[in-house]
Amino acid sequence: TGLNQQSLAQLPSHVDTPSYDRSAVKAGIIHIGVGGFHRAHQAVYVNELLKTPGSEQWGICGVGLLEGNRGLRDILKQQDYLYTLTVRHPDGKIDNKVIGSMIDFLFAPEDKQAVINKLAHSDTKIVSLTITEGGYNFNPATGEFDYSNPDIINDINNPNDPITAFGYITAALKLRKEQGLGAFTVQSCDNIQHNGNVTRKMLLAFASEQDKNLSEWIEQNVSFPNAMVDRITPVSKKSDIDYVVDAYGVSDEWPITCESFTQWVIEDTFSDSRPNWDVVGAQFVTDVTPYETMKIRLLNAGHSVLGLLGSIHGYGTIDETVSDELFATYLRTFMDKEVTPNLEPLEGIDLQSYKDTLIERFANPNIKDSLARICSESSAKLPKFIIATINENLVQGRDISLATLVIATWCLYSDKGVSEKGEKLEIQDAMYKELNSYAQETQTSPIAFLKLTSLFGKLEHNEAFTAEYKKSIAALYAPNSKIKAIMQAVLEQ
Ligand code: NAD
Repeated sequence: TGLNQQSLAQLPSHVDTPSYDRSAVKAGIIHIGVGGFHRAHQAVYVNELLKTPGSEQWGICGVGLLEGNRGLRDILKQQDYLYTLTVRHPDGKIDNKVIGSMIDFLFAPEDKQAVINKLAHSDTKIVSLTITEGGYNFNPATGEFDYSNPDIINDINNPNDPITAFGYITAALKLRKEQGLGAFTVQSCDNIQHNGNVTRKMLLAFASEQDKNLSEWIEQNVSFPNAMVDRITPVSKKSDIDYVVDAYGVSDEWPITCESFTQWVIEDTFSDSRPNWDVVGAQFVTDVTPYETMKIRLLNAGHSVLGLLGSIHGYGTIDETVSDELFATYLRTFMDKEVTPNLEPLEGIDLQSYKDTLIERFANPNIKDSLARICSESSAKLPKFIIATINENLVQGRDISLATLVIATWCLYSDKGVSEKGEKLEIQDAMYKELNSYAQETQTSPIAFLKLTSLFGKLEHNEAFTAEYKKSIAALYAPNSKIKAIMQAVLEQ
């Protein structure tokens, strides 16, 4: 049998199922971009909230804007919008949960007006988004709205025939304004620093080209809370589908697998009412910045440290790399000595246990995160993840040697593109050509890579940094060099 509302009753008792009356749930949240992450994160918080009395107004209606979402719509509809969440703990324990918080799904290419009307409906309090970084339509180099995108040009000129999230949201807000209904909150759940501010800037840039009065109304009435989101959710695989059938004999065509850790820190600035997500583990704060900094400088930077050093050694995944004791020690020392001194104390967070948990999460053998994925687009990541830490430590006169070896390793990685075992590395980066050509000058000029000033700023002129960097380069480029011996030497210095 397939998973649906009727077959729920047949599931074994170890599977957690929605205990609430789904027929009484209304959609207060419309979510655009129902990918794996939404189904492992926000939808799960809502699922838990719906188990508490008086919260039935907070169900979710999913929206798919892209043609590619047709199959997802068909599957969700056939399953009464239910799906399985397989939570894989670091110790190998597995929990299965059926999530019931999604009660409807609209496939926009089939009926655009239905989506606009749903967003504009008075029940809708929040329009949330996980449309990936690309969905925000900014130019990565300047951070400004990209007016040259043909879909955006269409949406500016055809307010009733939108394609993009900005077109739909603006059309719905126009209806709300005309009907005197007040605004909904637009809540980004994407992994972008200050995601609410970015969404606001992009939506206003879009709306002001379409309708000046409306964009002023949006500016005054719509809130865009910033949030930090965290839960590692790999892409669903055929083996995840097979697992669910084996585990409890019901077929789910699109289950989601994720780690057990989850975190959501949200700025409490909503246009209208909001769910009490704090009751089910989220945290409301006035400023999300220090939480974002902590996550980027420890989790994301930690991924890059393992990713680059591990790739040169010849490892393939994060769990494999961090299970090598030297790599785990290196990572922990980097976090303790070079990152932590720059982080502010945070309410509700014990940094020591946050770091312990991070290493445990990275070591989760059931979440296979490939180093190639971690190292992809390093040019967009390292300035925020690692170079920012180096710059602060230089100002404070603190240690930079562990982070510097990572930057020098990135040079070797971009230059040679092979592991010590001679395997070709799979490198994906929008700046790959430049990275490669600057790195290739290293043999003749050891700091050549640092001349990429869009990434490294003034580091090439900082003597403390270049002295350390040249040491790392010399070690890495020595004949028969071994990354583990170099890491060991840096740890001992
Ligand atoms: P996914 O590919 O499973 O889902 C992305 C969804 O967004 C899909 O439904 C897709 O159709 C839709 N989409 C993509 N581009 C769009 C656009 N331009 N307009 C409208 N819809 C669009 O990816 P995911 O794993 O769910 O990740 C989505 C985002 O969630 C990430 O980009 C990241 O910002 C955030 N996130 C993911 C993770 C993770 O571990 N997967 C962790 C934290 C945050």
